[in-house]
Amino acid sequence: MSEFALIARHFSRHQSDIALGVGDDCAVFDVLTGHQLVTCIDTLIINRHFPENTPPHAIGYKSVAVNLSDLAAMGATAHSITLALSLPVADDAWVASFAQGIYDCCDEYQVKLIGGDTTCSPTLTISVNAFGFVPKNQAIRRSGANIGDLICVSGEIGSAAYALQHPSSSLIKTLNYPKPQLSLGQALRGFASSMIDISDGLAQDLGHILKASQVSADVYLEQIPLATPLQKLPSQNAYHYALTGGDDYQLLFSISLENYQKFQASYPEFQLYPIGNITRSQDQHKVICYDEGKLYQSDTRGFNHF
Ligand code: ADP
Ligand code: MG
Repeated sequence: MSEFALIARHFSRHQSDIALGVGDDCAVFDVLTGHQLVTCIDTLIINRHFPENTPPHAIGYKSVAVNLSDLAAMGATAHSITLALSLPVADDAWVASFAQGIYDCCDEYQVKLIGGDTTCSPTLTISVNAFGFVPKNQAIRRSGANIGDLICVSGEIGSAAYALQHPSSSLIKTLNYPKPQLSLGQALRGFASSMIDISDGLAQDLGHILKASQVSADVYLEQIPLATPLQKLPSQNAYHYALTGGDDYQLLFSISLENYQKFQASYPEFQLYPIGNITRSQDQHKVICYDEGKLYQSDTRGFNHF
């Protein structure tokens, strides 16, 4: 099948409310007045970002979800995506299922696929570029954490890393179908002082906030929310998945105690999980972990591509 037939068959669904979508040299869309455009791109490579036996529907879904998670981490609303797809072969059934995964994630979050590029390459590679909006100067950055702030996460940590090692476990859905926390991210505008999404491991991603904000952190390991299969492990193993595993796509943010209480009163529908505190930086933006009050020597290295 030609590149053009493949695009026409699988990636040309009509998208409403887009000035110009798939079919021309570029896509065109209106920018919300009073807002700033927020954009990010993430690439997924077979056997690096997902195992080769991952179902194509999941690969499509996750390629979109990880990008929406980056928008969520800025407090942005998601608008649209473009998709650059490099395929070793034009397998019609594979592409149909992959495209369904792309559209399913888009539909779930009211995001439009507005363009892309399709090429042949020996290594299956998917790049999604996402676009969103944030009210002017209200993006939540990594650099705003203040001493004394609480550190919170938005949900269970370590599940995806556990599922990667235990593919037949019930947690495989968290690995294949991450849920970007867009509504929570937007609600946290004006409340959270800094934010990031956890893609490369809690400890490493918290480290990015600490470095950008020039602070350190105490983390109370027993407060990290864990899925049932992780709760059943020796705590050392569970903490290893939670701290270094990655692929969680939960939000990690700092928030003053006052704003935490105000947020809980304003948004009872969101559950926040405090796991630590921002402290004065004495030792190189360090994450210091405690297990039931006892200092815990932990490996804080997360996922590294090189
Ligand atoms: P050009 O040669 O001008 O770059 P292409 O032939 O690559 O155009 O693409 C034709 C149209 O199809 C463009 O609108 C492009 O955005 C869209 N497109 C190509 N590949 C994809 C894809 N995988 N998903 C969505 N849209 C795509
Ligand atoms: Mg092209």
